[in-house]
Amino acid sequence: MFENLSDRLERSFKILKGQGTITEINVAETLKEIRKALIEADVNYKVAKTFTDDVKKKALGQNVLTSLQPGQLMVKIVHDELAQLMGGSSVDINLKGSPAVILMSGLQGSGKTTFSGKLANLLKSKRGKNPLLVACDIYRPAAIEQLKVIGGQINVPVYAEEGNMNAVQIAQHAVKFAKQNNHDLVIIDTAGRLAIDEQMMNEIANIKAAIQPQEILFVVDSMTGQDAVNTAKEFNERLNFDGVILTKLDGDTRGGAALSIRSVVTKPIKFVGTGEKMDALDTFYPERMADRILG
Ligand code: GDP
Repeated sequence: MFENLSDRLERSFKILKGQGTITEINVAETLKEIRKALIEADVNYKVAKTFTDDVKKKALGQNVLTSLQPGQLMVKIVHDELAQLMGGSSVDINLKGSPAVILMSGLQGSGKTTFSGKLANLLKSKRGKNPLLVACDIYRPAAIEQLKVIGGQINVPVYAEEGNMNAVQIAQHAVKFAKQNNHDLVIIDTAGRLAIDEQMMNEIANIKAAIQPQEILFVVDSMTGQDAVNTAKEFNERLNFDGVILTKLDGDTRGGAALSIRSVVTKPIKFVGTGEKMDALDTFYPERMADRILG
């Protein structure tokens, strides 16, 4: 993960590491390389520009030109700015409410169903919750089956109404069922499409209005780079979601989505998916991610 970005950043710091006297030209060159590295990692152009402008201000403010170890100082500044760009600190999910209702959103294939299972598993084992998974993807019978298989693996019941083509009603029934059966957590998996479409957006907006979930999570495939950010923007404009789940970070992702989403959408990344198994998820810690990027 992020290998190219890490290598490119390391190379840009070299400009400052080997020099005797550092000039503003050296700093400018380094910043230019950093910006190129970010853009190559599929970071949104505006985000990359603001980022390097901020790094420049800090570098000059902290006297990088006269510093004894300008390279190291620059690494630290970039590290702190990267962590800041990704939100600074981690943000927990909201589990208030009886039951707490979490609504999953995102395009088909983003990893919604898999993540619904992972989250149920985590909250059951680590926070003593009694979750209910809900299958609201009424268009693909295979999706209902997939959620049932996942539920079986982690021993979490799945609520489904085969044949009912009203997703809002299924969600309402599921919340009622959860109350009657002492489930303190309801995780609703919804239908995604391959691309944003009006019917899908209306449906999920209607589910939101009907059940008023504590938490709406938007799931996105980190491999899709800038598209991930654009999709996040559209879903957020429509749903005003609470957090982002970045999946497939175990793949060959360049990192752009992780770095851009927070500043474009102003919503925190809450978890990352790191594999297909039910325990392959991590809480998102911006500081740790910045550590990883800078190696
Ligand atoms: P949905 O259509 O949004 O519900 O997406 P799915 O949950 O069905 O996931 C689509 C594919 O991505 C499946 O093959 C999953 O096993 C896979 N997948 C989901 N999350 C991850 C992840 O974090 N890492 C990897 N490598 N694969 C994932």
